Amino acid sequence: MSLSPAPIIEASQLGKTYRTGKLEVQALKNASFSINRGEFVAIVGPSGSGKSTLFYILGGLTSPTAGSLRIQGQDFSRLSDAERTKLRRAHIGFVFQRFNLLPTISAYDNIELAHQIADTGKPFDKALLTELSGLLGLEGRLQHRPNELSGGQQQRVAIARALITRPAIVLADEPTGNLDTENSIAVLEMLRKASREFNQTVLMITHNPEAAQIADRIITMRDGQVTGIEAARGSL
Ligand code: ADP
Ligand code: MG
Repeated sequence: MSLSPAPIIEASQLGKTYRTGKLEVQALKNASFSINRGEFVAIVGPSGSGKSTLFYILGGLTSPTAGSLRIQGQDFSRLSDAERTKLRRAHIGFVFQRFNLLPTISAYDNIELAHQIADTGKPFDKALLTELSGLLGLEGRLQHRPNELSGGQQQRVAIARALITRPAIVLADEPTGNLDTENSIAVLEMLRKASREFNQTVLMITHNPEAAQIADRIITMRDGQVTGIEAARGSL
């Protein structure tokens, strides 16, 4: 008999209702699933199906209005805002569709600042940055400011920024949404490597069913509900 490892993310009956005045939108209903350490999971579904809402909840950026969420065995809903922020900064790396780099400082400074904010207590890992910049094809580009980089390069900087603290969990919301095919492949393959070689847990939202195949499993959403969880190819 073997014991299965404790999942790193356990979502149980998660729900979210947005209220604006008298208007209510039930953006997420009864979402339950668990994700193991080192797994790469893609979340797919049409626009408005609740993917980003789920992303914000899993990242501790917003609270669910129903259900519970355990991250690394800790019940997120029982943590204070300060504790949740600390957990998020130390253990979760984020990648967004619009890159979200600070425009006034260099790529290098964007990455170093993310390390400072994460407040991991560990020194800035220059060897890891060298490795990441090689894997991401960013050699010679890091002293440039975001507006001196192409969109694809900016997203690769954003990936380096998310990975520099070696977060246990990497959350990416439509990371290839603004990229051409070549840059999309580079980003997807880096996320694949983060999971397979760095043992990081990766959750990637995408509306591209082909891109989703690079994951280990695919969670399908529709109208705020998880409608399926199935194995993916694990490659493009
Ligand atoms: P997706 O990322 O799959 O496109 P979202 O999670 O962004 O879906 O949205 C799910 C539903 O919730 C949509 O109907 C959307 O309009 C609504 N919604 C999202 N964010 C908010 C918000 N802050 N306030 C009110 N409604 C929202
Ligand atoms: Mg979205």
